[in-house]
Amino acid sequence: MIRESTLHPDSAAFRETVPAGEYFLKVVKAGETLRILDLEGNQAADTLFYNAHNPAERYSAVDTIREQGNVYLTAGSKLMSSENNVMLEITADTCGRHDTLGGACAAESNTTRYALEKKCMHACRDSWLVAVTKHEELGMSKRDITHNINFFMNVPVTPEGGLTFADGISDAGKYVELRAVMDVLVMISNCPQLNNPCNAYNPTPIEVLVWN
Ligand SMILES: [Zn+2]
Repeated sequence: MIRESTLHPDSAAFRETVPAGEYFLKVVKAGETLRILDLEGNQAADTLFYNAHNPAERYSAVDTIREQGNVYLTAGSKLMSSENNVMLEITADTCGRHDTLGGACAAESNTTRYALEKKCMHACRDSWLVAVTKHEELGMSKRDITHNINFFMNVPVTPEGGLTFADGISDAGKYVELRAVMDVLVMISNCPQLNNPCNAYNPTPIEVLVWN
């Protein structure tokens, strides 16, 4: 569902550009609004959310899908935690659909999906592992890297029940906006994927904005 935001970028309290292949880590407080902006189009922002005070409680794709009765995420979607609490709500969306089924790219999936020689290519899972390794204060490790959302990624479910990684439906300047319902730690991998049509084989930067 397309729903435009009423917030102006000039009034944002925080703005940061995240190059493809980099991670982004920030606590967004309850009541604050987070925007992820697809600067050049057809990019994938692979995102994990945690309760900022207890990372054992984290975004749960299965709870979110069950509660909303829809496999796709868009404006109006409430993102549920593993404790079945609402973590964030999508309040604006100019892309219209985001994936939470496809998972993040990893050395393993690059190998099985594309080719054995792709094993050593940088992947989203690597970016998250770098993030938790460099930030020991979070007390997180490999075991905390679980379900994610692929913002801007188009992964339709086929009539046979399969998944297809299809051409992206996002475009330059499209964004998704989320209002935090609890204090959340946001961990984004701006996807470095070179083998996937979702980002037109061309990883590009995103911008992250936060309004108090
Ligand atoms: Zn990726």
